[in-house]
Amino acid sequence: MVKAIVGANWGDEGKGKITDLLAEQSDIVIRFQGGANAGHTIINDYGRFALHTLPSGAFYKHVTNIIGNGVALDIRKLTAELTGLVEAGVPAPNLIISERAQLLMPYHVLQDTYEEERLGGHAFGSTKSGIAPFYSDKYAKIGIQVCDLFDEPRLRERLNRAVEIKNILFENMYHKPAIQADELFDELLSLREIIRPYVGDAVTFVHQALKEGKSILLEGQLGAMKDPDLGIVPMTTSSHTLAGFGCVGAAIPPTAVEDVICVSKAYSSCVGSQTEPFVSELLGEAGDELRRRGGDKGEFGATTGRPRRVGWFDTVATRYGCMIQGATQVALTCLDVLSYLDEIQVCTGYEIDGQVTKNFPVPALLERAKPVFTTLPGWKEDIRGITDYDALPANAKAYVDFLEQEIETPITIVSTGPKRHEITLRG
Ligand code: GDP
Repeated sequence: MVKAIVGANWGDEGKGKITDLLAEQSDIVIRFQGGANAGHTIINDYGRFALHTLPSGAFYKHVTNIIGNGVALDIRKLTAELTGLVEAGVPAPNLIISERAQLLMPYHVLQDTYEEERLGGHAFGSTKSGIAPFYSDKYAKIGIQVCDLFDEPRLRERLNRAVEIKNILFENMYHKPAIQADELFDELLSLREIIRPYVGDAVTFVHQALKEGKSILLEGQLGAMKDPDLGIVPMTTSSHTLAGFGCVGAAIPPTAVEDVICVSKAYSSCVGSQTEPFVSELLGEAGDELRRRGGDKGEFGATTGRPRRVGWFDTVATRYGCMIQGATQVALTCLDVLSYLDEIQVCTGYEIDGQVTKNFPVPALLERAKPVFTTLPGWKEDIRGITDYDALPANAKAYVDFLEQEIETPITIVSTGPKRHEITLRG
């Protein structure tokens, strides 16, 4: 049985908490795309953690966590994360790093940084983690796989080929110093020793697990809007954020995925550059207040600490997000955050050139879209930590009913706080 947990929106929907919850009943949790450029927040008995590369099953002894072949593996960052867990008293996770995953190199981080510098005011708002150059290199076939670390002549040959191209770019386009392949080679060999105990044949492991009827969770990073094909091009990430890509990035057969849980917040939040289209954005004092009250510590990026832009729930974007994710159910997080409001707006349509649509437009039109709002009454009652759905105030339930109708996907889980037990199941 394979389930995928993915984002319906711009990322930071609270997937970490839902994955953490469902990981308890799983045998295997697999990250299938992205890198250390985003984080999942998990709050448990050990403390508060922002995981970037490690799958969210890292806290359970019975779970095998897999860094799938689709992930951009930055070994330095993974090592720091593992050390952080050990220092917090968490037992070393049961981890397999796919030998087919590719390595995010220091030159990817440099290239990302130089390119954002070059773009100046037109920058993409990259986290400068090297993700875009990493995936570009993968498709240009100059990426280096984890298995290459264990074949030194091949590693040297692959590295020389990549560094030759990088140095032409760095010296001539960015006017920056060349990088030394020899130094990098030595560094890779020492990093190899850190990950050696974890590297394995994840493909065979996963297929064997499927034969044995094990339960597998695919853990997505970011959300549908950030998909480089179906998202808000070009303000996307560089790997596919859709559940469908789990079949590639985790080597799972497409027919095996039975359940796609799309996570969405009860309001919108979006991290990234100011130039990103964000139709239902709430600006000014009202936006500041929602940002301050959002999430568990205000809406600030788990990886970058950057303030997130916030807005009203957007049913146009979320219906589309659920549709392209193939959502079978939705987990709605952060409903408790909205308890302070007298009235709550929901963006239920986009007006583009005088026409109102409920269909999510192509990026060229999205820039001109203006929100059409429906106003619903608030509930003005603290609901933090409520665990019985029926005990929620009538207006809170009416709000959830309304969203469900608009996004055309059943909302089965409603989260009422950042902690693991602060959750209700909606029958
Ligand atoms: P992810 O990348 O999708 O895992 O999302 P993040 O973990 O980066 O962001 C979600 C934020 O919301 C974190 O600060 C969570 O602790 C917090 N959070 C998750 N669910 C809830 C909830 O139901 N209520 C509140 N108040 N915060 C929540």
